[in-house]
Amino acid sequence: MDKQRVLDTFLQMVTIDSPSYREADMAAWCARKLEGLGFEVRFDDSQEATGSNTPQIIATLPATGAGRIALSAHMDCVLPCEGIKARVEDGVVRSDGTTILSADDKAGIAQIFEAVESVLESGEPHPEITVLLSVCEEQGAAGAPHFPETLFDEEVLTLVMDADGPAGTIVLKAPYHHTFRAFFKGKAAHAGVEPEKGLNAIAMASHAVCAMPLGRLDESSTASVGIVEGGKATNIVAAECTLRGECRAFDEQRAEEVRQAIHDALLDGARAHGGTVEVDWKLSYPGINVPADDEDVQRIMRAMEECGIEPVLTSTGGGSDANVLWEKGCKAIPLGTGMAEFHGVNEHISLEDLENAALLLEHVILDLAAN
Ligand SMILES: [Zn+2]
Repeated sequence: MDKQRVLDTFLQMVTIDSPSYREADMAAWCARKLEGLGFEVRFDDSQEATGSNTPQIIATLPATGAGRIALSAHMDCVLPCEGIKARVEDGVVRSDGTTILSADDKAGIAQIFEAVESVLESGEPHPEITVLLSVCEEQGAAGAPHFPETLFDEEVLTLVMDADGPAGTIVLKAPYHHTFRAFFKGKAAHAGVEPEKGLNAIAMASHAVCAMPLGRLDESSTASVGIVEGGKATNIVAAECTLRGECRAFDEQRAEEVRQAIHDALLDGARAHGGTVEVDWKLSYPGINVPADDEDVQRIMRAMEECGIEPVLTSTGGGSDANVLWEKGCKAIPLGTGMAEFHGVNEHISLEDLENAALLLEHVILDLAAN
């Protein structure tokens, strides 16, 4: 791992604007970089589905030793992320305070490139390495689902370089995530002249919200209503009301229980006020649940020990490309890149974390080929 090189790569990428849906310049830069490292770079056919100005990257470097590994990150950033001017001060990289830094997720990409380059320089045998670079991750992991349905014909360890927390962070659990849209239908009537002829859809929705589980339900599950829309005027009994919300749980069964409880509350709300409701549920993404004694987790922890990095086993309440990649043959485990206060103008990353996560990746790759 070359400390100066990983920093230079990161700082160079930071100057490339890549908000969601406009990742083309970043993709072109990454493709050139990967080709320079000897990868066969191909673009998928996701562009129409994602609406981005570029397809996503699937790049493969043939093995010189045993095993297969995939490394994943996303090319897009949240706003404000145009014209970023990074500066390094006291071992920390920050923006000038008017934009984000885009360590989320360019630090992850820089760590991947640095790890691969270091592996190649070592001359040691390495596994087949696949690099997956997605678009629109910040839009609710909206790019990764459009990678080919099957990326691998067997389960391949995929390190997703996109978790917060210091280098050494391993995310073992992420929730199943269901979202709903409920459309309550009542009947309009004059609110002052003949309200008894109306059926108030807002009352149905309110009844439902009051009855449904909300907030942090236990240490492993949450539920929320995020959007309510309905009604036309104060003097009209509201004929329509739409609710949108979600629930999450680490355990698939628990997620289903909460989903059912919300669903029942929605039906009850409509019934209580004489109306009807149509409910659409969508599984946004499945959860992640990897035991700490999993052989690949142990492999990553062994690599940390070699590098003198402290392991931090953790869980997250959010979702990422990792959730989606499991369905495509990837054993996707999110690792910490060191990015901090991300999604805001105070975003920063320490040089130590930037370097350590790259060092760790290098060791995991080499360990895979050796064992
Ligand atoms: Zn990210």
